[in-house]
Amino acid sequence: MRLVLLGKPGSGKGTQAPVLCEKHAIPAISTGDLIRAAIRNETELGKRFKEYTSKGELVPDTLVVEIVAERLTENDCKSGFLLDGFPRTIAQADALATWLQNNDLSLDCVVYIDVPNEILVERATGRRFCSESGKTYHLKFAPPKVEGICDVSGKPLMHREDDKEEVVAKRLAEYDEKTSPLVDYYKSRDLLKQVNGVGSMDEVTTRIADSLR
Ligand code: AMP
Repeated sequence: MRLVLLGKPGSGKGTQAPVLCEKHAIPAISTGDLIRAAIRNETELGKRFKEYTSKGELVPDTLVVEIVAERLTENDCKSGFLLDGFPRTIAQADALATWLQNNDLSLDCVVYIDVPNEILVERATGRRFCSESGKTYHLKFAPPKVEGICDVSGKPLMHREDDKEEVVAKRLAEYDEKTSPLVDYYKSRDLLKQVNGVGSMDEVTTRIADSLR
């Protein structure tokens, strides 16, 4: 199974990805995670990524296509994969189509998780995470037991730079301009499954499973 998970920043792609991956026994490839790892490890590429992510801008297509293509050649992708946060522009979608064609592969489906902007702003600005345990919280919807502290590691929680309000607004504007055309792109290729992303995690999981049936 080769899937793309499409949705605005904070629409729940990162939450649904592990569920889908477990169900279909495929790895999740999140470009956001690959980019954050490069930034954390202070690689040359990571330093260039940071110039864009800290401002809520997309990383240039050529750089992100390069890291995805490299990742897709790894062994665990032989049984399929789920792309989370990629493609995000028509140029990236074209690059993915070319890569798949060159490898005699095709996509099975693109799941689009649809959530209105005002809900996304509330979700992102309240989100906190722990860099040690990797656990994510929300001030209102999923607070830690002790304010500001990770339940698992006991370390202080962080607010992702790109989850701050002005950056979220910028990311949503970037999405509308550059990524939203992908909905029609995949619709016209008969690959798009649109799912309502408002509701509990389980509700959305069920809707996605139904759409893939
Ligand atoms: P995410 O966690 O998927 O929201 O990604 C965090 C940030 O990484 C984004 O705001 C972008 O700056 C960058 N990024 C992630 N995926 C891509 C992509 N496919 N193309 C360009 N930039 C990306």
